[in-house]
Amino acid sequence: MNQQIPALEVSDVVVRFGAVKALDGVSFSVEPGTVHSIIGPNGAGKSTMLNVLSGVYRPKSGSVRLGNQDLVGLRADRITKLGMARAFQNLALSGEQSVEENLMLGRHSLTRTGFIAAGLGLPSARNEERRHRGRVREIAEFLDLTEQLDGPVGELSYGGQKRVEIARALAMEPKVLLLDEPVAGMNAGEKRYISSLIAEIARSLSITVILVEHDMEMVMSISDRVTVLDFGRRISDGTPAEVQNDPAVIGVYLGT
Ligand code: ADP
Ligand code: MG
Repeated sequence: MNQQIPALEVSDVVVRFGAVKALDGVSFSVEPGTVHSIIGPNGAGKSTMLNVLSGVYRPKSGSVRLGNQDLVGLRADRITKLGMARAFQNLALSGEQSVEENLMLGRHSLTRTGFIAAGLGLPSARNEERRHRGRVREIAEFLDLTEQLDGPVGELSYGGQKRVEIARALAMEPKVLLLDEPVAGMNAGEKRYISSLIAEIARSLSITVILVEHDMEMVMSISDRVTVLDFGRRISDGTPAEVQNDPAVIGVYLGT
């Protein structure tokens, strides 16, 4: 019997868009510090699920619990503060600003008075600012971005910008990190690097990772568990080995 509270518990979530049931009673449970992937064909409901978890969509019914906290109905910024951070599928970085400033923006999402107090140059704010910059440097080091800190994000390679996106989400000190196709468009080397990084985020930083990804080799190699969606329904859930051998999953992926 496992006494640990799940990091994330999704129960019976339903989302409709008109006649389309984008999510049709989906449930899954995620242990802390693990990598949990959500896979399925196009239109299966993966992005909708991430939008529910981050508070962009409110489900018609069902619940989402982050530890002991029920998230349904809370605003997206409140959910971020409670510890759910998302690295967006479409880069929403400020390209002209430096890597450091982009990561500082992630930090400022944590504080209420940060910008105002810093603007007034108050000593307490200066100390806080210094603390945040220190933490940003640590995160940059973790993601191999130290040498890029002062340069504009827009001048980094595509893979580099993706790393900044993950770094900015980590700068929010999340309990749960949501990743939507983090290796889409990357070459094999970059994919391997991001894969090992994601494993490291879960194992070393004890951050729970929810991963939506099309690259099956990556999903099967780094996930502790996998939930498979098809037409808004959960058709399988288990370890990578269990899911890969599930006839329902094989049917969906081979079109039989
Ligand atoms: P996936 O990310 O797995 O490809 P989505 O979650 O984007 O799937 O979509 C699930 C279903 O919901 C699809 O049928 C899609 O067309 C529909 N859908 C998603 N978002 C919207 C929306 N904002 N308005 C209407 N239909 C939507
Ligand atoms: Mg999608």
